[in-house]
Amino acid sequence: MRSTVDFEILKKSLVYAAENSPFYIRLFAEYGINVEKVKSIEDFREVPYSDKTDLREVYPLGLQAVPDEEVVRIHSSSGTTGQPVIIPYTREDVENWAEMFARCYELAGLTRTDRVQITPGFGLWTAGIGFQAGCEKLGAMAIPIGPGNTEKQLQMMVDLKTTVLCATSSYALLLAEEVNKRGLKDKIHLKRGIIGSERWGDLMGKRITEELGIELFDIYGLTEMYGPGIGIDCEKHEGIHYWNDYFYFEIIDPDTGEVLPDGETGELVITTLKKAAAPLIRYRTHDLTRIIPHRCSCGRDYPMIDKITGRTDDMVKVKGVNIYPGQIDELMKEIEGLSSEYQIIIYHEEGRDRVLFRVETAPAVDRVRLKEEIQKTFKNRIGIKADCECVKLGELPRSEKKSRRVFDYRYETQKKKEMVL
Ligand code: ZN
Repeated sequence: MRSTVDFEILKKSLVYAAENSPFYIRLFAEYGINVEKVKSIEDFREVPYSDKTDLREVYPLGLQAVPDEEVVRIHSSSGTTGQPVIIPYTREDVENWAEMFARCYELAGLTRTDRVQITPGFGLWTAGIGFQAGCEKLGAMAIPIGPGNTEKQLQMMVDLKTTVLCATSSYALLLAEEVNKRGLKDKIHLKRGIIGSERWGDLMGKRITEELGIELFDIYGLTEMYGPGIGIDCEKHEGIHYWNDYFYFEIIDPDTGEVLPDGETGELVITTLKKAAAPLIRYRTHDLTRIIPHRCSCGRDYPMIDKITGRTDDMVKVKGVNIYPGQIDELMKEIEGLSSEYQIIIYHEEGRDRVLFRVETAPAVDRVRLKEEIQKTFKNRIGIKADCECVKLGELPRSEKKSRRVFDYRYETQKKKEMVL
């Protein structure tokens, strides 16, 4: 399945944004774009990109493309770095999102008899309510517990016989470890995990799968595009199906902005096709992936992107070499005796950039031998030298949200560096 789109539908969405969104009215005027002259996909590729920085500038409601009486809700992306981005929704937007989410659950094999424990947060952040609305749309039982409170999570999981766990991969791992620690494995009824909001490697997936005895599904989405639920992998796990009746996906070279052919890895750029309250045209997600150029063996018509391999902003350049977390996952798969958890610490010492690769190892391994093997593999696969430190299983921090793995201290004070090293 190629990343094709009916051009008329794409054009309609472009014209809608150009006429109704204050943000796009200004952006297109600035770039001298007359959307009436966009008559082909080639013309469409001349339309400027927008990204989060641009959206922040029109805080709070500069994206709103409908009158106030049509807006039923807003969500906001986390404002950890600067101004948050506010996304308004019409009633139809909310319904479309639930529809997409229900489709995700169906692809993951859920039915009305499932009991779905929802651990992502509720509120301004879009995650929790998306999981819940989709669940209700499907007709399964939602258990909207939200994040944290591991005691309560485990109690609900056992007493209510939860069959589906919705979580970030970090939190799923934390719960899996607790289930094992407390010997609850025979008391839980989990069958599936819907895991989203951060990229996870195969090793981490394998541990969650084995410790909880469940099948994992990788759900994709971002607040600017409704929230999670704009794509998921099916039972074949060959890639993430996305809803091409709601979005047009393009892959670009993050440095040059050039559109890449299907199959090549680059940055995902999304155009919404039906979003009314806050349409987005050629929005840069900063997620690295590729469009899979063939149809999934499940036979469904929805096209696929590959698992997200990282973010353009997670990518760090050390001694002229790009390192991104997806590469580290690949490297760790090759080495026997490693857990899924690691940290990459980059710092400056004696006029040189140095890399420390900290990794958790399985119990009863020869850490000295392993350290040598890791250092050698790191040099071969990544292309630069790293010092390795093997730590005990469970020693690196676990998170209820997203785990931070890359720490770049090159431009920060010595003191801060010492706190981590
Ligand atoms: Zn499929």
